[in-house]
Amino acid sequence: MADNKISDAPKYELSLINQGLSDRGLRSQSSPHCSHLSFLQVLLVFAKEDSQSNGFCWACEKANFRCSMARTPESALECFSEKHHDLVIIDHRHSRHFDAEALSICMLTCVLFLRPDREEASVMPLINAGFNRRYVENANMMACYNELLQLEHGEVRAQFKLRAGNAIFTALEQSQEAIEITSEDQVIQYVNPAYESIMGYQKGELIGKEIIEVPKSEKNKPDLLETINSCIRKGKEWQGIYYAKKKNGDSIQQNVKITPVIGQGGKHKDRRKGSLDVRSTTSRGSDGSSQRRHSSMARIHSMTIEAPITKDGLRRLSGNEYIFSTKQPHHIPSHLITPLSLNDIPPRIAQTMENEDSWDFDVFNLEAATMKRPLTYLGLKIFSRFGVCEFLNCPEATLRSWLQVIEANYHSSNSYHNSSHAADVLHATAYFLCKERVKQSLDPIDEVAALIAATVHDVDHPGRTNSFLCNAGSELAILYNDTAVLESHHAALAFQITTRDDKCNIFKNIERNEYRTLRQAIIDMVLATEMTKHFEHVNKFVNSINKPLAESVKSVLTSPENRILVKRMLIKCADISNPCRPQELCIEWAGRISEEYFAQTDEEKRQGLPVVMPVFDRNTCSIPKSQISFIDYFITDMFDAWDAFADLPNLMQHLDNNFKYWKGLDERKLHSLRPPPE
Ligand code: AMP
Ligand code: ZN
Repeated sequence: MADNKISDAPKYELSLINQGLSDRGLRSQSSPHCSHLSFLQVLLVFAKEDSQSNGFCWACEKANFRCSMARTPESALECFSEKHHDLVIIDHRHSRHFDAEALSICMLTCVLFLRPDREEASVMPLINAGFNRRYVENANMMACYNELLQLEHGEVRAQFKLRAGNAIFTALEQSQEAIEITSEDQVIQYVNPAYESIMGYQKGELIGKEIIEVPKSEKNKPDLLETINSCIRKGKEWQGIYYAKKKNGDSIQQNVKITPVIGQGGKHKDRRKGSLDVRSTTSRGSDGSSQRRHSSMARIHSMTIEAPITKDGLRRLSGNEYIFSTKQPHHIPSHLITPLSLNDIPPRIAQTMENEDSWDFDVFNLEAATMKRPLTYLGLKIFSRFGVCEFLNCPEATLRSWLQVIEANYHSSNSYHNSSHAADVLHATAYFLCKERVKQSLDPIDEVAALIAATVHDVDHPGRTNSFLCNAGSELAILYNDTAVLESHHAALAFQITTRDDKCNIFKNIERNEYRTLRQAIIDMVLATEMTKHFEHVNKFVNSINKPLAESVKSVLTSPENRILVKRMLIKCADISNPCRPQELCIEWAGRISEEYFAQTDEEKRQGLPVVMPVFDRNTCSIPKSQISFIDYFITDMFDAWDAFADLPNLMQHLDNNFKYWKGLDERKLHSLRPPPE
């Protein structure tokens, strides 16, 4: 488009996406009156430069927003995964360039441009696809600027605040201090878990009750309550020693701080009553540590930033994610308030998954149809087939958000360790779970654990091996003491991402003990994919399961220890099942892993690091030889054992064919993936 005349415009559709960043949320919360947030990050996804894209560039400049430009969906995703833009604008006018809907699903909230004569079309499909506004094409800079400002002051800020609210609520929940919030009528609105455990009440026993109904300790001075109330009525904070009565009747001495909350958080002062409406109380037992504590708000703030250690011993919350990852993990897609359900998967994509229960399923077709986001779609289908949502008592929307955020944390720039590999491993896992012997030995919770473990097992893989990370002294290697660095990271990050936000927390509704069992099983399986333990896992499986089974000892299948061995073997075989796939798929995987290894060797040479796999040098490598060695060394024995257990004749047939294929190339002294054309 050369000018602003809309009537001349060809078939134009543009889309916009936006997302809130959680750290800005806290800042905007604490300074609600600033005219706008500085340095909003905007991503423009325009296949070509034209007056419309220029209009938005200028508007960003005028608004003092930082603006990046992407020309393809791939580079958009790449760029987005680095910067987590607050606002994304997708050009949807030339739909042949890319599928804006699929792109929007990978990102967050959006706005859509439509050409004028389609203005009357319903926005519902767009909203369902994750866009949250559409913009009728108008390249005028002021129009673009006004649109950006409206988005910033509306959608973007609202998201910041929601995220900030969520962060503060999480901090309250994690606080070791007892916190109680009451309404203006002194009705208890909230108590945190620390309050429950210190005072011995369940929150259900307190919420909705007036505080005068809760038994008081006789140890307090008779006029103390009146002193406190008059202080609060004046809008002042009260702090001092207070004896609280626990549910069991014991009195405990506490250092209590009571803070009236005025304005935004609660209502304004009620002059008729001459009292303040909402107050929040924090308290601790008056042991030595409590004396060191200062203001409750300061504490809440610092906890949010420093991130507490949770019950599970995992650090979480946004402030310290850097310790897990060199890049900040993706946040939860926030456009998923009305997510597409399994039934809404576009037919083109659904078609590529029709034979998802067969070993011959082609994950690369799905990869292409979903613009490199196969895990979300395949995950939705397979998890639904196994009734995972029913088991976890979790809405499909939560599962969808979870799959999206996990997939977003795979690196699409890796040639092998990307989300297609995860989808492939998930597929193999589901296939194995349907084998009779496997079904006999595993419980439903094991199946769910296996599917989740497969999905997350390589999340945030940097495309480099453990040895590389150790030699390079990477942050991850330091964090995990050079031991199972990547596998530890995949497992830890998976739980961090999952539990960070209720919207994608698929474990939210399961009972504590069940969560503990599931978590343990998932971690164990992800750690079992570490290759230094390969022979240990295979040998244990053969000795404890295959040999006794051959002697007809049926009870071997049901012992919990043996179930663990079966699950480890299952995920290991799924993880390196590519030599057992139909030949074309096997060749593609071999090409991808070789390329990833070549890139590592290139980097090792560039940086003067030890070359850990000298065989994988792109100048000298024989791919057929490397595959023959890989199959001989790792695959044959393992799949012999797994086949003896699970009965997988088709896999063994493919393995045999593929081995012969590589042998054939090697005999012809060829180094390439395929023979040269005749
Ligand atoms: P993971 O990193 O969890 O995928 O672990 C599987 C291991 O097997 C990794 O070290 C992969 O690089 C390796 N691997 C998988 N497939 C092949 C293959 N076809 N050739 C060589 N190595 C492979
Ligand atoms: Zn893997």
